Amino acid sequence: MGILCSKRIAPHKKISMSGIYLHIPFCRKACHYCNFHFSTSGNKINEMVASLKKELTFRKSEAQGPIETIYFGGGTPSMLTASQINLLIEEVYAQFSVVTLPEITLEANPDDLTPTYLKALKEVGINRLSIGVQSFHDKELSLMNRVHNGKKAVQAVVWAQELFDNISIDLLFGTPHTTFADWQENLETALKLDVPHISSYALTLEPKTALKHFVSKGIVSLLDDAEVEAQFLYLVNSLTQAGYQHYELSSFGKPGYRSLNNTAYWQGKPYLGIGPSAHGFDGENRYWNVSNNAVYMKKITAGEIPQTIEKLSIIDKFNEAIMIGLRASWGVSMLQLEKQLGARYRNHLEQQSARFIQAGLLQIEEDCLKATPKGAFIADGIAADLFLIDLLEKA
Ligand code: SF4
Repeated sequence: MGILCSKRIAPHKKISMSGIYLHIPFCRKACHYCNFHFSTSGNKINEMVASLKKELTFRKSEAQGPIETIYFGGGTPSMLTASQINLLIEEVYAQFSVVTLPEITLEANPDDLTPTYLKALKEVGINRLSIGVQSFHDKELSLMNRVHNGKKAVQAVVWAQELFDNISIDLLFGTPHTTFADWQENLETALKLDVPHISSYALTLEPKTALKHFVSKGIVSLLDDAEVEAQFLYLVNSLTQAGYQHYELSSFGKPGYRSLNNTAYWQGKPYLGIGPSAHGFDGENRYWNVSNNAVYMKKITAGEIPQTIEKLSIIDKFNEAIMIGLRASWGVSMLQLEKQLGARYRNHLEQQSARFIQAGLLQIEEDCLKATPKGAFIADGIAADLFLIDLLEKA
């Protein structure tokens, strides 16, 4: 959509296709906090890979330019063998034009990463790993029902570093029973490992998860908001002091190591979403595939893509620009907002954001509206407050 402040945004309609997201809907077991789409039965992986390949062939005409990023997300993509991953990468190259050096990311869980597997991943073309560490403390990992332990997490990162340069790790904060000292230790371990990218998310209580059930029964209690915010502020301070750029609310990268895939998504570039529950965007419409492995495979076999399409209204575009822009370090470009949606949307945003600017939660810098360090932690809540524009559209 190009409403975010960035030199990479072209303020014109024709945007080249930037990425392909492939959803691998299998996990070894269900983490207690997770509501992503996955199955814990891995006996249909071959059939799923065949279906993903088929969907890639169905979608080949949808590319609007060369593919810059390929992202294996999930689920747990590291449950695929390197040969299965290779089949999918080869299919992308067979169906699409791909830039010379695409970023090819694989989300991997520490328990899957062995030196042999890592070597095979490198050989099939994976050049960026996103490792689901979440914590280095066994008590947190076991409460979250993760497969790995802290020792395995460190080992996996060290092994990965022998072959890969571009590595990200995921860390969760604000998890139940995590003290401030636990969190400090987690970050110290992460910093010692010296990976070039860290994604760190506050735990959220999602519907229909085991954690939600435990909390509602009083078996587990959540940290209060002030403790979670303190952990976030510590995260931002310690990582920025260590030389990471805080370029999106949850994302920290050393110079040259931002996720190209995620940045393209945040900058409103089109991408193809392949696989059950995968979301995609074609520049005007968002779509998502059915979140059911059996239905997905059956429809694909019948030559149909089981997807729901939603054309973005002007209100959707405004809301997305605010939601993404306030999370990103580059903010919302007021000029682009005015050019693309109209002056009344800029005026509305200026009026509505004034109270947040006065409270020191938002700021305007070079005509871009951004969250301040104080506002960053509640950026999603501020964005939600700024969404309320239905009356404006009907006026
Ligand atoms: S957090 Fe990741 S590994 Fe755990 S269940 Fe969700 S998708 Fe699977």
